[in-house]
Amino acid sequence: MNKGLKNCKKDFPLLSRQVNHQPLVYLDNAATTQKPQAVIQRIVDFYQQSNANVHRSVNTLSLQATEQYEQARSKVQHWIKAAKPQEIIFTRGATEAVNFIASTYGADHIQAQDEIVVTVAEHHSNLVPWQQLAKACGAQLKYIKVDAQGHLDLQDAAQKITARTKIVACTQVSNVLGTIFPLKQIAALAHQQGAIVIGDGSQAVPVMAVNVQDLDVDFYVFSGHKMLGPSGIGVLYGKEALLQALTPYQYGGEMINEVDWEDSTFSELPSRLEAGTPNIEGAIGLGAAIDYLDQLSIRAVTQYEQKLMQYLLPQLQALDDVQLLGSEDWTQRTGIVSLNLGNIHPHDVATVLDFQGIEVRAGHHCAQPLMRFFNVTATVRASFYIYNTKEDIDRFVAALKMAKEFFEQ
Ligand code: PMP
Repeated sequence: MNKGLKNCKKDFPLLSRQVNHQPLVYLDNAATTQKPQAVIQRIVDFYQQSNANVHRSVNTLSLQATEQYEQARSKVQHWIKAAKPQEIIFTRGATEAVNFIASTYGADHIQAQDEIVVTVAEHHSNLVPWQQLAKACGAQLKYIKVDAQGHLDLQDAAQKITARTKIVACTQVSNVLGTIFPLKQIAALAHQQGAIVIGDGSQAVPVMAVNVQDLDVDFYVFSGHKMLGPSGIGVLYGKEALLQALTPYQYGGEMINEVDWEDSTFSELPSRLEAGTPNIEGAIGLGAAIDYLDQLSIRAVTQYEQKLMQYLLPQLQALDDVQLLGSEDWTQRTGIVSLNLGNIHPHDVATVLDFQGIEVRAGHHCAQPLMRFFNVTATVRASFYIYNTKEDIDRFVAALKMAKEFFEQ
């Protein structure tokens, strides 16, 4: 049911605070989102009423905790349209999920002379694990380019992905540009050459409807904290047959079947790939975040972000001496903008904005190769989400103008 996004800001207790004696405008959502009271309360309720370890005991509390933990898995499954709940493995976040695949599937399949293909826009989390794997195995790491507006160059992709390619790792949305990448076409190109594809959904799952079966990705990763959920919980989706064949990432409690003096056998999915006590309250909190977004409807979230961008982008384009990275077409992007104001250092811009209670991020955004590609060292990044309003945009644009006047006088 669509509860409507109007006034949802009031559901987020933190957003009513002040920063530097000014009402807060939170525009660092690509780094992490704020949490609605419903998510906070769900975690408190778990600790106050059902806290127990999962999958271990037949006592009532443990059974209730297990039921809630597994319900969260089903919610994630339905949210990204996976075929089965056992295709959802809980991790600490997107970073751990990529490292998981690099050190299991990657280590088992990559040999000298093989190729791993990434895009120049990958977050370090979906780049450095592949870079290190390639180094360790003597494989080659290749980069797919983007064009001047940050659209992925599909012709370049078709050339870079060859019969030697074993793994293609590609984000669905750039965390710097907000540009939406054609992940489905990349998966098709990878499969034509017999490679597998890993999609990074960290910036996509919070803002657009995702269907992993339609994308035909082999693995897909994202973090809970960027979609209203708690930190320390993330998801590794994998096609069942691929997950079945994975060497376990970690060994320990709950992932075994039988342990003898010399050897062990391992349990079924998903527990085979979730060694040790998991982040139970994190998964339950993520489930509550999905419920919250579901009430709003993910289509309404996408449309709302597009409306905000439609309002913001012309105002930014009209500023003097502004370098705006990413697509000029607001239908090709989510609510992330990266810019530079003349020669003013992004940290200086961010500091002036912070004085006015406006929280943005300045820096390389964990995407240094992309910074190099665009020949910049850093940018100011403002990232919008469901609780941001046109008034927030007005204050952001006014503060940018003020920063320009302040540094250029
Ligand atoms: N990929 C992308 C596109 C991201 O934006 C981020 C977080 N900035 C990550 C991966 C890593 O997420 P986490 O730090 O939650 O593991």
